[in-house]
Amino acid sequence: MGAYVKNVIDNLRSVLGELVEIREGLIRLIIPNLAKYTQGKRLEPRWAPVFYNPLTTTSRDLDTLVVEAYRNIYNPKARLCDLLSATGVRGLRYLVESRVERVTLNDVDERAYKLMKANALLNEVEDRVAIYNLDANLLLNILVRKRQRFDIIDIDPFGTPVPFIDSALRTVKDGGMLSVTATDLAPLLGVKSSACLRKYQALSMNTSFSREIAVRILMGYVCRQAAKYELAIIPAFSYSLSHVIRIHILVKRGATRANESLKRMGYVRYCRNCGYRDLVEEYPIVSSKACPRCPHETSIAGPLWVGSLWDSEFVDEVRQVYRERVYLHNKCLSNLLRTIYRESRAPPLYYSTKELSRILGVREVSPKEIVKRLRNRGLFACRTHFDTKGFKTNAALDTINDLVLSIVEGDRRAA
Ligand code: SAH
Repeated sequence: MGAYVKNVIDNLRSVLGELVEIREGLIRLIIPNLAKYTQGKRLEPRWAPVFYNPLTTTSRDLDTLVVEAYRNIYNPKARLCDLLSATGVRGLRYLVESRVERVTLNDVDERAYKLMKANALLNEVEDRVAIYNLDANLLLNILVRKRQRFDIIDIDPFGTPVPFIDSALRTVKDGGMLSVTATDLAPLLGVKSSACLRKYQALSMNTSFSREIAVRILMGYVCRQAAKYELAIIPAFSYSLSHVIRIHILVKRGATRANESLKRMGYVRYCRNCGYRDLVEEYPIVSSKACPRCPHETSIAGPLWVGSLWDSEFVDEVRQVYRERVYLHNKCLSNLLRTIYRESRAPPLYYSTKELSRILGVREVSPKEIVKRLRNRGLFACRTHFDTKGFKTNAALDTINDLVLSIVEGDRRAA
């Protein structure tokens, strides 16, 4: 470390307390000493003067692959804005690892601003980084007035991204990408459904496949906000990992295209009695709540995105980038990418073996076994990254139920 950088970091200690240097991916990072911010054994990164969560490293690893895939397919000279940067970790990794041309970092907190400046110096990339200390919406509104738009805008807040979507949509370039995190899972998963209605203007649902519904609500929210600016959205890559939901979407200009996007809006219908679920492409109003399979009425979630959550060719490029990034290789990431790749070609809405066992009143079967049997019958089936007990298939629910019962029956005979 050069004497100047060392001096900058030493001066920061008076503002930020004890600092430590870590490595994440290919970058070096100065962060607050997280050992000082714990409750019992649990880390409380939000108590630190600048936020950094080591538990979300896998999500950042994956996102560096997604950004590089975007760069490879669409624009090798992409410029990116990491709108809510905290330590600057994301923006700096996109610069060094995904090799975007320039990044803009920003945080409203002055301590974060000072720390990301030091981190840019530490990685010797300050000439390719612009750093701001402004409210995120103010920054984007100023830049768009100056006709400075971005190819990629990354919105990675605590909680909901909703306050930042509007300005980001107006500032992203035609054909650019918005990458959005939501960590307000209680509203999105239907645990606090009134909060979901307030923030996303959508009904969430607390059920066995809520994770996918949550991603679709977030996607649908962005789609509706985009439409008013005559922008269309095209999902490239989505995932849900522990308490984080992430969507990466392409944004394209044009009223006709925006209308096409709105045609991918609709609702989930779910029958709590028989387990039937489907997506209906009806927006803004859903016409029937009757369960097509039994005399009950379905519960409704939405409006939400009913189109695909992935572009499978884009997912393939992400896998290709991963193969070349040997330093990121680990079992978690490679399993995740393999599962998502298969899932990107699967029908929507997963089934959970736990739920099937509850409805049928039998023991739980293994999702691996049921996927195998469905495939043996020539049907499409794969696991889902949303839930270790989940699987996706084009089989009718009657077929799925028959298979579950035959697995259980087979066990009984064998015993
Ligand atoms: N992207 C970071 C985490 C960011 S945490 C990472 O990957 O580690 C969210 C950050 O947003 C915090 O540092 C907070 O200070 C900042 N923030 C919150 N509201 C903001 C606003 N309105 N404008 C700009 N920054 C904001």
